[in-house]
Amino acid sequence: MAGRGMLLRSCRLCVARVLGIAPRSQTPVVGSRLAAWSLVQARPLVRVPQLVPGPCSLRSVTQRAVHEAASAPSEARPGNPTPPASSHCILNFYHLVDIPRPHEVLEQHRAFLEGREVRGRIYISHQGINAQCGGVTADAVAYVQWLAQEQSLFEGLRYKLYPADDHAFPRLRLKFRPNLISLAGGMTAAPVTDAQARATPLDPLAWKEMLAQAQSPSSGTKPVVLDVRNSYEWDAGHFEGAQRPLEDEFRETPTAASRTPLPHHLEGVDPATPIMMYCTGGIRCDVYSTHLRAQGYSNLYSLDGGIQSYLDAGVGEHWKGSLYVFDSRMAVPAPSPAATGEEGEAGLIAAAPCQVCGGAAVLPHMNCANIDCNKLFIACPACKTHLKGCCSEPCMTAPRLLRPIKDAGVYGSWTAYAGEDGVAAAAIRSGRGSRRAQRRAVRLAEERSRQRAKREEKMERRRLVEQVMAACAAKAPAEAEDPAWRRLREARLKLMAQRQDKLRGPAHAAAKEARGS
Ligand SMILES: [Zn+2]
Ligand SMILES: [Zn+2]
Repeated sequence: MAGRGMLLRSCRLCVARVLGIAPRSQTPVVGSRLAAWSLVQARPLVRVPQLVPGPCSLRSVTQRAVHEAASAPSEARPGNPTPPASSHCILNFYHLVDIPRPHEVLEQHRAFLEGREVRGRIYISHQGINAQCGGVTADAVAYVQWLAQEQSLFEGLRYKLYPADDHAFPRLRLKFRPNLISLAGGMTAAPVTDAQARATPLDPLAWKEMLAQAQSPSSGTKPVVLDVRNSYEWDAGHFEGAQRPLEDEFRETPTAASRTPLPHHLEGVDPATPIMMYCTGGIRCDVYSTHLRAQGYSNLYSLDGGIQSYLDAGVGEHWKGSLYVFDSRMAVPAPSPAATGEEGEAGLIAAAPCQVCGGAAVLPHMNCANIDCNKLFIACPACKTHLKGCCSEPCMTAPRLLRPIKDAGVYGSWTAYAGEDGVAAAAIRSGRGSRRAQRRAVRLAEERSRQRAKREEKMERRRLVEQVMAACAAKAPAEAEDPAWRRLREARLKLMAQRQDKLRGPAHAAAKEARGS
């Protein structure tokens, strides 16, 4: 037990948090009294840190204190939520654990889910499970309780449940995936199932305090706040002090397999500097922190349970905007009035400004209605209306103005998402869908005939070369200076030169002509 023998001073509130039991008062206690209290609670003494009189050291976030919090047993962590009263729900969880035979586990899950109304993404690998799913509340809850209580492999599993009116996912995708998340170079070689290799998890309150420390002008070494998500998620909402990721998507975040192994915001940062990492649910931090540790960063902290836990705990401070989520909700508001994520008439407020006029943008994101642009952007309600779903005025006059249509209750991936607005509705009414299919058929036919012509040209060239070579071979070397032989040789060289020019493209041919060769 890591906590044994460590010298820590603590108040009831912090000890209760570490042990996962209800505090009776906030008055500080000393070691002997707390030990007795733990006996009353019938908890083994070994879990209680050794205590000394004095001010609580857990309240100020020191590395020692958070390590103590992290080493508390998993059942002492904040409990799992009670099922919502709604007919449907959204269920999110992940668990990093060595699974020797993932395909067997997969079949057990498939058998359990047979006939149950659970949909979404559930991925199983040698390193654990990652699920963003949901469905009929009774079925989803039965599934996660079966997992947490009856499957010893997933002991201590923590999950999140949110109410929903209907299915938030179109279908169930339960499969084996070697990488639970997408990252350059994959995650199979990373020691993600070793808690010591990952960042130290901080509960929402400890995170808030450390964040305040990072913001305070007086503190010494300032922690770096690192957003470990896609850049468009940062646009929807982020923690104060966290810079926008340079990469568009998390899977492009630098790893050992990349050209430079560190994210831009860590370049030149001393490896001893505390790094505070956060993501939506926690898995991206758990995986990426093992990479940063391998790069020499030793002072790594992650937000336990991700932003979802932070917002669920009602701690809104230091959070700006709303939270981007990967289900039909698209984004959820921050609960605290101190945060800016409020649902106005037009939608949720985003942390980043309108990318057209710089005003206050609202979520969800949109893909530009010009299919050849398809840029994912956020805008204010006025710009959304004015630009008719396009990202800019030039896109409004583009020839291919169509957009993915959302079927009733069925959502595509974020790139295919389109809101129920005037543009989508008009596209359905005008029957543009059928004309689109015709245009697509014409394009395909044109492409096929182009390919055929290319193939025939290639065959013709090959035949010519073969003829010339056969003629050359028929001539004896002694007759090399024969005029007929010379003509044949020149013809062959000319053909080869033409072929080279063709391969190099028209720019090369033009340059050659200019040289007069
Ligand atoms: Zn605007
Ligand atoms: Zn555009």
